[in-house]
Amino acid sequence: MSDDPETARQIAELAPGTRPLLVLDVDDVLMEFIAPFMRFLDAQGLHLSLETFRLHGNITRRETGEALDYEAVSTLIDDFFAAQDRWQSPLARAVEAVAELSDQADIVLLTAMPHRHRAVRRIHLDSLGFPYPLLTTEAAKGPALRRLLGATPRPIAFVDDTPHNLVSARQTLADVHLFHLMGMPALRPLLSPLPERVEIVDEWHEAGPRIAAALGI
Ligand SMILES: [Mg+2]
Repeated sequence: MSDDPETARQIAELAPGTRPLLVLDVDDVLMEFIAPFMRFLDAQGLHLSLETFRLHGNITRRETGEALDYEAVSTLIDDFFAAQDRWQSPLARAVEAVAELSDQADIVLLTAMPHRHRAVRRIHLDSLGFPYPLLTTEAAKGPALRRLLGATPRPIAFVDDTPHNLVSARQTLADVHLFHLMGMPALRPLLSPLPERVEIVDEWHEAGPRIAAALGI
């Protein structure tokens, strides 16, 4: 499992924290992703079928049924990230719940997205009411969590919708409090298995108090 040098550089720019640490994924945790991505595709005559929880291989041309190849799907995802400020809005109560937690915890956003889109995401998050440090990574999230935690003993919680990110976190930090929250909970049956000791929550109304309890705040 490799570290991402650009993510490490971004972490080094942050002031070391001492309060309980809450690390949050962005897509389908703070901002909707799948739902607006489907609208983005629809506007181009494309369709995402969600019989499996992946984008590559599942996007077709609506008129012909032709499947898009790997490279075309990667280009679409990249185009969506470049235009994210026109499509993505917050999950219900996410702004308020995270703001309440930020009174007593250090909040860091960790998004698995190409580094080149960091600036547009930064501006968009600020405009939505998420003024917390934003890290991008193109590698596994676990090593970034360990680096963020630093040497000061403190509780850490991590929220993500993608199982392999939670697996990476658990493999790297045995004591991290893991939460699975996703913008479209109806897709949960399609997911690969979650690691051990993950709290499953369906919305921020429920997640806020449970994260606070886990962090002891
Ligand atoms: Mg996500």
